[in-house]
Amino acid sequence: MPSSRAGCSMADSITSRAPVPCFTEPASRRRTSVHAQAPLRPRRGIWRGVFRFQQRLRARGSKGDLRVNPTKKLIVVTCMDARLNNPFSQLGITEGQAHIIRNAGGLAKDSLRSIIISQRLLGTRKIAVFRHTDCGMTTFTTPELRQRIRDSDPGNDLLNEVDKIDFLEFKNLEKSLRDDVRFLRRTRSCSRRPPSRGGYIMSRRAR
Ligand SMILES: [Zn+2]
Repeated sequence: MPSSRAGCSMADSITSRAPVPCFTEPASRRRTSVHAQAPLRPRRGIWRGVFRFQQRLRARGSKGDLRVNPTKKLIVVTCMDARLNNPFSQLGITEGQAHIIRNAGGLAKDSLRSIIISQRLLGTRKIAVFRHTDCGMTTFTTPELRQRIRDSDPGNDLLNEVDKIDFLEFKNLEKSLRDDVRFLRRTRSCSRRPPSRGGYIMSRRAR
């Protein structure tokens, strides 16, 4: 995973169009505050980290007036991989500029609900879908995972519901990415006007 935008080189990318160029301000002028409510004071673990993050934001004093509509009109779909821990800086964008949607593998197909809300209600126009090398989604199959879940509690018929879940794993990064971009092109519920859609592969070695 690159530490900056340069880490995702054009050589690593496949795009249906040129990479997202420049951006314009959204039509909506609505603003929202991330400090609308005073947070409860957490005491330990992850909540202490969240609390400290909020304190840092408050100290900077510059993030409380961000617009709810992403200023770059951009959606980024990327993997939930814990090693990709700061997609904003790693992709060269900052808070308020884009919606970042994360799930296992960074699948647009698994992000459709959020994509539609982002486009229809919050004015985004461009979608960038990312895969990354060394992704865990290439290491299992749906039948294997279903069996593993069933084996975790033999005889528990409630676990049979897992048979209805397609875990959408993939073996080939580039093919999976192309299929996902094609899926977005075909899905008309995303946007009335055809927005730009691009797919990119990030190399973790570029970090
Ligand atoms: Zn991944």
